[in-house]
Amino acid sequence: MTALPEAIENHAAQGVLALRWPDGREAHVTHARLRAACPCSGCRALRRAGGNVAVDATVRLADIEPVGAYGLNLTFSDGHRRGIYPFEMLSTFASM
Ligand SMILES: [Zn+2]
Repeated sequence: MTALPEAIENHAAQGVLALRWPDGREAHVTHARLRAACPCSGCRALRRAGGNVAVDATVRLADIEPVGAYGLNLTFSDGHRRGIYPFEMLSTFASM
């Protein structure tokens, strides 16, 4: 099972979500990058078809809602809120 982040910190002004993992890794992921990686069925279908999710660089996280021990449901300032980001996926940002 994927470890849960030890800390989740949203730096709203910089547009960065900071995650710290129990193994000491830290990730600073921009909100735009998170939006582009949205794992909802609609965005996945778009990428599978060879398209890119249109992301404005100024897009911001509007809300972060935990989904149990599974992940985070992220709401963005462009109104998109269908993406539930598994911790397993979020942890891959740390190594990049
Ligand atoms: Zn999506």
